[in-house]
Amino acid sequence: MEKRFVYADNAATTEISKPVMDVLCNTLSVYGNPSSLYDLGGKSLMVIDSAREQCAKAINADTKEIFFTSGGSESDNWAIKGMASVMQKKGKKHIISTAFEHHAVLHTLDYMKKQGFDVTLLPVHEDGLVRLDELKAAVREDTGLVTIMFANNEIGTIQPIAEIGAFCRENGIVFHTDAVQAVGNVEIDVKAMNIDMLSVSGHKIHAPKGVGMLYIRKGIAIDNLIHGGGQEKGRRAGTENIASIAAFGKAMELATADIPSKIAKVSKLRDRFIDGALKIERSRLNGDRDKRLCGNANLCFEGVEGESLLLLLDMNGICASSGSACTSGSLDPSHVLLAIGLKHEVAHGSLRVSINENTTEEDIDYILEKLPPIIERLRAMSPLWERIMKENA
Ligand SMILES: *Cc1c(COP(=O)(O)O)cnc(C)c1O
Repeated sequence: MEKRFVYADNAATTEISKPVMDVLCNTLSVYGNPSSLYDLGGKSLMVIDSAREQCAKAINADTKEIFFTSGGSESDNWAIKGMASVMQKKGKKHIISTAFEHHAVLHTLDYMKKQGFDVTLLPVHEDGLVRLDELKAAVREDTGLVTIMFANNEIGTIQPIAEIGAFCRENGIVFHTDAVQAVGNVEIDVKAMNIDMLSVSGHKIHAPKGVGMLYIRKGIAIDNLIHGGGQEKGRRAGTENIASIAAFGKAMELATADIPSKIAKVSKLRDRFIDGALKIERSRLNGDRDKRLCGNANLCFEGVEGESLLLLLDMNGICASSGSACTSGSLDPSHVLLAIGLKHEVAHGSLRVSINENTTEEDIDYILEKLPPIIERLRAMSPLWERIMKENA
């Protein structure tokens, strides 16, 4: 096959789609201050209002429950810190989460620990899934917040969110979920799923970087994030990023327009890749085979070093990832792969291929053609592989 360019790192970020780009460009010239009384400001306000409607509709929320932010990290920080502060006033200091959250959650929880909060991180087991009975057992008298991601960014496993939501609601515990990876890949209904707070990021769903939202259910009290003007009902002040918000609204509408057909199309390609890649000896799939995002394949190849694998793939025009982008550059293996019980040396040889609706069968076959010889080449130079072969001779 001729050299191609294959972008298979959509879990890290996505390309801005054409319709979203059109909205972005057409609203960059909408400059009136939305808070002004004159007509020009009103036009800007209308743009923001309609984006808010698109976002609310996408997750079955009310427009009053949507707060625009700068993205996933900010939304996660706000949800946790904002709720912790309310908990403190009520004498509650226990937060439950999982061991394989995104760093936007985990590092915020580390910070809360330094502020005197207790944090329980639930195990996610070999399949990358939390167990409801373990959540129930972890709850204390002073548990005020459960934050569990909807779908994992590295291994793509989808948590039993509706069950967790129902349990938290019954027990009066606030439930936040980081749905950055799930939006557009899983049907989300915040009412039916009893979700109190939910984070979304624009750049994972074909919108620009630097925009996202936090859904906060009516009646949930959390501290305001940015003090200043009256924007976002005074909870997140600052003159709005009109064009990005408009683009984000459009992206939310498009991402949730027809999820079943996206799942049908993309999961077929994902499975084609997984089946092909698992033919490589001493390979394994990370995370549950079925309860995973339609675009996520995460595998380990023993005796291979992830960074070298990525470099050689890149030389062949293939963009993929190993571990998460936030940790690449460090030698620590991914905390997600360690959380599902992999040994350090196995976790080092991981490859995440994250595809989407634009991926073609030719793209998949191209990766499957390039991957085996690259792995063979790396193993031929690897002392670790030599040892594995000797031990299993
Ligand atoms: C990308 C990502 C984030 C961070 O979102 P930003 O908009 O880049 O801040 C948070 N959580 C998950 C699960 C992600 O995949």
